[in-house]
Amino acid sequence: MYCLHIVIPCYNEKEVLPETSKRVGELLRGLIQSGRVTSGSRVVFVDDGSRDTTWQIISELHESDAIFSGVKLSRNRGHQNALLAGLTEGSRKADVTVSMDADLQDDMTAIYEMLTKYESGCEVVYGVRSARDTDTGFKKFTAEGFYKLTAALGGEIVFNHADFRLLGRNALNALDEYGEKNLFLRGIVPMLGYKSDIVYYKRAERFAGESKYPLKKMLAFAADGITSLSVKPLRYVGGFGLIMFAVCGVLSVFLRGNGQLIATVWAAAGLILAALSIVGEYVGKTYIETKQRPRYIIETILE
Ligand code: UDP
Ligand code: MG
Repeated sequence: MYCLHIVIPCYNEKEVLPETSKRVGELLRGLIQSGRVTSGSRVVFVDDGSRDTTWQIISELHESDAIFSGVKLSRNRGHQNALLAGLTEGSRKADVTVSMDADLQDDMTAIYEMLTKYESGCEVVYGVRSARDTDTGFKKFTAEGFYKLTAALGGEIVFNHADFRLLGRNALNALDEYGEKNLFLRGIVPMLGYKSDIVYYKRAERFAGESKYPLKKMLAFAADGITSLSVKPLRYVGGFGLIMFAVCGVLSVFLRGNGQLIATVWAAAGLILAALSIVGEYVGKTYIETKQRPRYIIETILE
């Protein structure tokens, strides 16, 4: 038997928490009663600085049933940091963790299969969505585009896997060794090594409330993810500059007239700006990393 912690980051999730806690509580109680996991197993809700009554709901759940524990961050730090706080601070006693979203989009029943794979020796089990029928055409296009672009730019990620995954103690300890501040879990976990496997599940619609990832946040997340995994964009932009230099060099022999000249200059200026901003992204990352600031601050832990 092993101690299982199910870690759920929550940001303004008052609409879904009553239902999510009911379902995940039932699932974990079932696992305890059937003798598969120890009675010390927990559901760990991480409140990522919510502005609604999320923390109040978590505290009440904890008071009414010891199976629920809670970690409260001092402010909103984003999904990845909240998840990390739950996996490290909230799950110190766990032999194995499963992370999932609060909104019931991740199919909880996949946890049984994840545990079976863990029992047969996997340290990492990725939940991968088998279909995207519940996503809008736009979300599907941007999300799948992101996985393909990241892979093309050198990031090793599992296609259509988000943050629904099982991590064993060895994998959790290994994850602890990665001290970087900009931790993109989807890209780091495959780096850990260990035996891993995939469990397919059908992604449901958000149970209630609104997505906490508007397009702007999603794009920032994608840019962050790619630049934290790979330096290929820097090389590509350099290669592109060389090609442009060669092409324009040849063209300048044939082109005539002021209009063309001005257009060429502005086109070049635009490209230089774009290239600089990519370089700047990495310089910015270095700046953030050198500061060694904490990834999150924990206000309260209910264990
Ligand atoms: N979340 C978080 N901090 C944030 C944003 C989101 O902890 O700053 C949590 C959120 O409560 C949910 C999960 O991350 O449990 C995924 O967010 P959401 O479902 O809104 O994203 P989507 O499924 O729309 O991509
Ligand atoms: Mg969601």
